[in-house]
Amino acid sequence: MKLLIVVPCYNEEAVLAETTRRLLSVAGQLTAQGKVDEAGILYVDDGSRDRTWQLVQQAAAAHKQVGGLKLAHNVGHQQALWAGLEVAAAEADAAVSIDADLQDDVQAIFQMVDHWLEGADIVFGVRRERKTDTVFKRTTALAFYSLMRRMNGDMVYNHADFRLMSRRALQALVSFPERNLFLRGMVASLGFPTATVYYDRSERFAGESKYPFGKMLSFAIDGITSFSVRPLQYISLLGLLFMFISFCAIIYGVCAYFEGRAIAGWTSLLVSLWFIGGALLLACGIIGEYVGKIYKEVKRRPRYFVEQRV
Ligand code: UDP
Ligand code: MG
Repeated sequence: MKLLIVVPCYNEEAVLAETTRRLLSVAGQLTAQGKVDEAGILYVDDGSRDRTWQLVQQAAAAHKQVGGLKLAHNVGHQQALWAGLEVAAAEADAAVSIDADLQDDVQAIFQMVDHWLEGADIVFGVRRERKTDTVFKRTTALAFYSLMRRMNGDMVYNHADFRLMSRRALQALVSFPERNLFLRGMVASLGFPTATVYYDRSERFAGESKYPFGKMLSFAIDGITSFSVRPLQYISLLGLLFMFISFCAIIYGVCAYFEGRAIAGWTSLLVSLWFIGGALLLACGIIGEYVGKIYKEVKRRPRYFVEQRV
């Protein structure tokens, strides 16, 4: 059994040596305990502009367990991770994905492997607390997770991209042909037996976050729009609501007219305003339904995955 630890890196020269040291120790213990026959580390250099790739090359030369993949251009965390997972799906029996910055506890990998050996195909690493994150990051993250959950029930709360996937789950994942990736949602939607490992998240070991607020926001929007057609459906609901208001406005307007409280022309204006608004929104919503269908169709996702056959 071969385990591959996939680590996307973007300008991570400050942490790389320590990351290699800690992951090698985990890999060494796993093989020593006989849990896996082979454990390797695969760095995916996401078009870094610092010395990250040189460090990966050095590490690969020094340790046979370490490998590297250099992407020609910065394509973002999710795409870089995908590149590594594609390699893992072809070459390993399981893959653990972890960030390079050591915020996720590498010790949790042992429990992940245990769950995998007990039959789980996907093991989610879930942050127990967010003590070390800033208040700002904590609140925005909380808002994001609850919004995501409302949009799509499959989301795992407080789980980022620290997880283990079996070969079967990896192959299912890489058969998704879509380009817009929101891995934590996609993985949660696969099905297959899952397990959860809790860990404390620490501070970044060194270097700076590669996710400033702008990137975080666009990641959140990406997450919703590349995963859910609910926002489109909400337009129809809004349209129906406006139609309902227009109906109330009609009753109110007509009553006011007969009671003589209405200024000439007000009733017709009031009623048509709400009615046209509602009709337009509803029309947008109907178009949205079709757009949603097209959206699902162009993704060409596999229809199902077989878990077992007897
Ligand atoms: N990363 C990447 N490409 C990017 C941005 C980030 O591969 O364009 C990697 C980065 O090197 C790290 C992981 O994605 O291993 C998570 O980034 P970071 O720790 O900066 O995000 P945060 O934890 O602050 O949300
Ligand atoms: Mg980080």
